[in-house]
Amino acid sequence: MTDCIFCRIVSGEIPAKFVLETEKLVAFHDLNPAAPQHALVIPRRHIATLDDATDEDRDLLGELMLAGAEVARLLGCAEKGYRTVLNCNQDGGQSVYHIHLHVLGGRSLSWPPG
Ligand code: AMP
Repeated sequence: MTDCIFCRIVSGEIPAKFVLETEKLVAFHDLNPAAPQHALVIPRRHIATLDDATDEDRDLLGELMLAGAEVARLLGCAEKGYRTVLNCNQDGGQSVYHIHLHVLGGRSLSWPPG
């Protein structure tokens, strides 16, 4: 989707600071970090929200989670701890409609979220 900002990051049209690139996924630093370490893992293929994912996306979503753990290790926050978040739709706080897993770490994170 050419009007999707994350698709444009995948295609290289918009620059990003990449942490990880695989056949099906890319991870890059969040532009407005909410923690000392904050990256986003996204599938190269456009899926708007978690609610749009289907059974065909089962393996891809598994890869997304495992890539989140790998990104936390690459960012150096795996051992102390980190959080993965996937916001869905308006009430979930989603602002970019291309599925993405937040990986947040580098500080103690409070719970519950706002
Ligand atoms: P969400 O609110 O869950 O949809 O998260 C979207 C995230 O994308 C926010 O944390 C933004 O800071 C981040 N973001 C938006 N545009 C960019 C960009 N061009 N490069 C990196 N991160 C971005």
